[in-house]
Amino acid sequence: MHSRGAAAGTSGVRVLAVSKTQPAAAVRALAALGQSAFGENYVQEALAKQHELADLDLEWHLIGPLQSNKCKEAATHFDWVQSVDRDKLIPLLAKFRPVDLTALNVLVQVNIDDEASKSGCAPEMVDALATAIAAQPRLRLRGLMAIPKPNADPTQRPHAFRRMRILFDRLKQRHAGVDTLSMGMSDDFSVAIAEGANLVRIGSAFFGERGRPA
Ligand SMILES: *Cc1c(COP(=O)(O)O)cnc(C)c1O
Repeated sequence: MHSRGAAAGTSGVRVLAVSKTQPAAAVRALAALGQSAFGENYVQEALAKQHELADLDLEWHLIGPLQSNKCKEAATHFDWVQSVDRDKLIPLLAKFRPVDLTALNVLVQVNIDDEASKSGCAPEMVDALATAIAAQPRLRLRGLMAIPKPNADPTQRPHAFRRMRILFDRLKQRHAGVDTLSMGMSDDFSVAIAEGANLVRIGSAFFGERGRPA
């Protein structure tokens, strides 16, 4: 692990390679091309890969739903946790962040389309969660993450990103150090960037489709 931010391009937009379901060898191949930041959804899967790739200097982001019983491993083995969406996780992540590591970078995940099945907090909860994170010296509040509804009418697609941008701009005014708006995936990253994303999470466009026989 290292303390740099995710690889920054000249545009100021950073790219996170989402390596869930991909073997360690695929991560290693992409790392050889210069990609240094990787996102994983499942703690156990990530730990196995990190173990195989321990010789590389990679930055790991947890982007999947976080259970409280996984907070210790998340705080120990990741550089960023993008999926903080409830109060309960905050003191746990802070308590378990090892003292020999820098503060854990944290994003608040927002359920921006109010989908019943999705992780993420309601937009009204962002301020309270952000304040609780900012109060923890072992955590570093960096910004917001969202996964807008994928099958929305394409003409509606910018709207969720735009609502996130508004929340993000407001958060930045309240908290120094907030600099990261994580939104946009393989299918919609260009729309997300146009609406202000500065960290995009790209899986299939890097690695090919997941879970389909070759
Ligand atoms: C899987 C995943 C991605 C990447 O999705 P692609 O469509 O493969 O680019 C990004 N963010 C999250 C939270 C994911 O779970």
